Amino acid sequence: ESWPSRGQLEVRNLTVKYTEAGRAILQKLSFSMPGGQRMGLLGRTGGGKSTLLSALLRLASTDGEISIDGVSWNSVPLQTWRKAFGVVPQKIFILTGSFRMNLDPHLKHSDEELWRVAEEVGLKSVIEQFPDKLDFQLEDGGYVLSNGHKQLVCLARSILSKARILLLDEPSAYLDPITLQVLRKTLKHSFPDCTVMLSGHRVEPLLECQSFLMIQDSSVKTYDTIHKL
Ligand code: ATP
Ligand code: MG
Repeated sequence: ESWPSRGQLEVRNLTVKYTEAGRAILQKLSFSMPGGQRMGLLGRTGGGKSTLLSALLRLASTDGEISIDGVSWNSVPLQTWRKAFGVVPQKIFILTGSFRMNLDPHLKHSDEELWRVAEEVGLKSVIEQFPDKLDFQLEDGGYVLSNGHKQLVCLARSILSKARILLLDEPSAYLDPITLQVLRKTLKHSFPDCTVMLSGHRVEPLLECQSFLMIQDSSVKTYDTIHKL
C-alpha cells in the first residue's frame, strides 16, 4: 500500500521498440529522477518523448531496468506498477462509459469527491452541460469533448487515484493559457510531493522543472537548467 512513497525513478540501459523485430526508437537510456521533483522532457517531433513515457508504463517492448523507490518493474505485477502513475497522454483514449467511469474506473469515490475534483480542474461546468451529468455516456473515444477537456479528464483521474508519479505528455498542446494556469495550480495543490515528468515544446510550462531530459538521436542528455539547452 505504501509503495511508492518517494516516487524516485531509476532508468538503466533502457532500449525501447514498438515490435520485437522493429528498430530501437530509444537506445540504452540511463537517468534518474529524484522523488518529488519535476523533470521536463524535450526533443524534436518524432524524437521519442511519447515513446519514453509509454515505456515507463510498460506499454512498449523494452530491454533494460527501471525501478521506483528501489523496486524493480520485474518484481511487481503490471497492474501494481501502473497504479504508481497518473497519466495525461498526448493521444487520449476516453473509454466508452460515463464521466463517472472515466474519472473513477474502480468506482471508489463519492459524487461529492468527483464534483470537487471536476471543479478543481475546471471540468464541472463542462460535465454539467450534459444530460445525466456524471452518468452521461461517452462514446467513440469521447468525441463530444475537446482534446483539452479530455486531458482534464485524465488529470482529474490522476488526482483521484492519488498517483505518486505524474506523466504529462504535451500538456500545453491543447490547453489555453487559462487552463494551463489551472494545471499549474493543480500540480501545486493536488500533487505537491509528486514526481512529475512533463513533455513539451513550449518553454513556459517547463519553467517550473528542476531538471531536463533532452532526447536526441535515440539517446538522452540531462540538464539542470533550461538555459544550457
Ligand atoms: P511529438 O513531439 O510529435 O509528440 P515524440 O517525441 O513524442 O514526438 P514519438 O511519438 O515517441 O515521438 O515517436 C518516436 C518514433 O517512434 C517515431 O519515429 C514514430 O514514428 C515511432 N512510433 C511512435 N508510435 C509508434 C507505434 N505505435 N508503432 C511504431 N512506431 C511508432
Ligand atoms: Mg509525443
